[in-house]
Parts: sequence; C-alpha cells; structure tokens
Amino acid sequence: MKLKHDKYKKARGGYSRLLSISCQKCNAPICFYQKDGSGNLRRMYRDRIIEPKISLTRKDLTCPKGHLVGIKMLYEKENRPAFRLFVDSVIKKIVKIKK
Ligand SMILES: [Zn+2]
Repeated sequence: MKLKHDKYKKARGGYSRLLSISCQKCNAPICFYQKDGSGNLRRMYRDRIIEPKISLTRKDLTCPKGHLVGIKMLYEKENRPAFRLFVDSVIKKIVKIKK
C-alpha cells in the first residue's frame, strides 16, 4: 500500500497517515484511508479510499453489513467527491507502512 503525494496532500501540510476504517456498530472493516493533514476525520475523499470492502458508487456509505456511516458529498473547494462521515460512525486505527 502506497500513499499518494499530490497537490491535495501538499495543501494539507504534506503530512499523511494511513488509517484502517471500520464500522463503529459492528466492527466490520470498511476500507483503508489516506488521511492528509492533522485534525479529525470528518470526510473521506474518494481518491484517498484504498481497498474498499463496499461499493463507493451509491449515495450512502455503509459498512458491509449495511450500517450507515456517511453520505456522498462534493467538496466544492477542490471539486472533489467525498463522503461526509457521521459523528462516531467509524473506528479509525493508524496503520504503519513498511518503507
Ligand atoms: Zn456495521
């Protein structure tokens, strides 16, 4: 798994972490995610979602068991498709990347 280095990362200070995202309700894995910059994870950009276990083409973002965790949005500032996450809907764990 490799992190992306691009203008979006640069705009957030050039610092990224890899997170594993799972459902708060049932613990089912949802995807891996490259989080750029500091701060809380409030939305997930489509281009940063890695190895999704679920469909990303629907309006709703759910875990594999159907719990609703977020909703599709467009981050207009960057014209970038994303999912807005509901508060406390997912569990985030930092994944160490081998170099
Ligand atoms: Zn779930």
